[in-house]
Amino acid sequence: MERCILNRTPRAAITIVAIVTAIVVIRISTQPDVYSVDSPFRQVMGTFARVSAVSGSEKTAQLCVDAAFDELTGVDDMMSDYKADSELSEVNNNAFGEPVKVSGALMEVLLAAVEYSRQTGGAFDVTVGPVVDLWRQAGKDSQKPTDEQLAAAKAKVGYENLILDSQSLTVRFRVEGMRLDLGGIAKGYAIDRAAEAMRANGALGGMIDVGGDIQCFGITPEPETRENWVIGLQDPGSDTGLLVKLKLTDTAVATSGDYRRFVLIGDDRFSHIINPQTSIAAGKLSSVTIIAPTAMQADALATAVSVMGHEKGMELIESLPDAEAILIRTAAKGEFLTTSGAQRYIQP
Ligand code: AMP
Ligand code: MG
Repeated sequence: MERCILNRTPRAAITIVAIVTAIVVIRISTQPDVYSVDSPFRQVMGTFARVSAVSGSEKTAQLCVDAAFDELTGVDDMMSDYKADSELSEVNNNAFGEPVKVSGALMEVLLAAVEYSRQTGGAFDVTVGPVVDLWRQAGKDSQKPTDEQLAAAKAKVGYENLILDSQSLTVRFRVEGMRLDLGGIAKGYAIDRAAEAMRANGALGGMIDVGGDIQCFGITPEPETRENWVIGLQDPGSDTGLLVKLKLTDTAVATSGDYRRFVLIGDDRFSHIINPQTSIAAGKLSSVTIIAPTAMQADALATAVSVMGHEKGMELIESLPDAEAILIRTAAKGEFLTTSGAQRYIQP
């Protein structure tokens, strides 16, 4: 089974794909007693998502697809900083004044986020919100932030000032004006939850793809590929070309990079990924793909490595036994670097 991942698909192309696949595709697999349902693309978490489920009946497979989308939209409603009524917005609005009670789910993501901050020496930091907001506004105004504005925003960033109490499930900010931004991790968390929900509803296998961040588990509908899901990673240097094909089994993949989302100010392009140490956009890597056991880990590490650059980033990923990386430097179009263990996922 081959999947092409639309990392940078032009909107028109997505629209065409969405129309073509607007009817749910139900396939009777060539494996006995196995059915699969492929959803159309749906807009969720600011991007396009699709889900494939393999199960013993068509009805169960459809149930699994629905359960996956329920999880994706549920996490988005809870963790989006764009939604004024999300749980995250409530924390952002009130956690300086008093500890704010949160759900177990939000606490789980925040605890993981702090762990990734420690692991990456602060390259990953969900308290980067004030700086992200500043650059978003700069994009709208077509004007770079001033040094004073950047310094003021930077003073509100720092995961050490995020006080998490996992017993009482409360969150508090030590600095006024702090803001959490889960854009670098929530998608991965949502994908993992969607996979869990599919398993709980009877999926024998499945794939969840949210804007190119993917979790694959169990069997594919085809006996030739069995538990190997094959996905294509897009070459950021080309609109249509694939960089490599990856063969995945019970594994997640996430891609970050400045070619995916950025703001344009004059002729300068600024990545949406911020180096928390400098408050400036990360820019040395045009694409970072991380392969890891969970989509949350892959998502957070892809964002972190985009900030760290290829030398430190490679060193970090090589030191982690269960994660691999495929990187493309901005200056070296078409050429990619991989960690030593990544080769086993790449299809010849
Ligand atoms: P991703 O596409 O997973 O790399 O996530 C990028 C998003 O994460 C941005 O749009 C911001 O919302 C947020 N973000 C930006 N810089 C960082 C950072 N250094 N650490 C954590 N999240 C970040
Ligand atoms: Mg990420």
